[in-house]
Amino acid sequence: MTQEKTLIIFKPDAVGRGIVGEILARFEKVGLKIIGSKMLQPDTAFFHHHYETIGTMITRHGQEIFDTTVSMMQEGPVIAFVLEGVDAVSIVRKMVGATESKSALPGTIRGDYSHMSYAHANEVGIGLPNILHASGDVKEANLEITHWFSDKELFNYEAVHEKFTQTKKSHKK
Ligand code: ADP
Repeated sequence: MTQEKTLIIFKPDAVGRGIVGEILARFEKVGLKIIGSKMLQPDTAFFHHHYETIGTMITRHGQEIFDTTVSMMQEGPVIAFVLEGVDAVSIVRKMVGATESKSALPGTIRGDYSHMSYAHANEVGIGLPNILHASGDVKEANLEITHWFSDKELFNYEAVHEKFTQTKKSHKK
């Protein structure tokens, strides 16, 4: 199945800077379909489940980076979206760019809207404010979507451009 769903979360730095709309437009422009959206300010336990139970972040980065990241994620409200499309998980990761803003290429969202290095974030003891979270792979996407959205909060509708992405195989011959 090449049709996938993925989770993006606008972090408090993006919400606070008022750049959510223009970044969201990038995903709509490539033809990804919004099937869920909400603003919320989750507690530490919720982020623990997101970043450690699902994301194994303490194992990968250590307790200190986990703590500063969870604290950064609670600086203000976040806005979460579920996007759907062909290979949506990898397409969105490509658009979001590298985790470290300093290394993220121009043209990617993190490269165009943020600049901080790991070294600076670690020196001042903060989680790296890099605009967006995006699911890392399909398995993670499914677990994250279930964590952030109930079934009732996800919508099934036909977008105009789906006409061009769901051509029946037999028609191609
Ligand atoms: P990604 O968000 O690209 O999937 P990770 O899951 O590895 O990356 O990390 C989660 C988040 O933790 C990052 O987006 C970033 O905000 C923060 N983070 C990761 N590594 C560091 C670090 N070395 N210093 C500060 N913050 C970090």
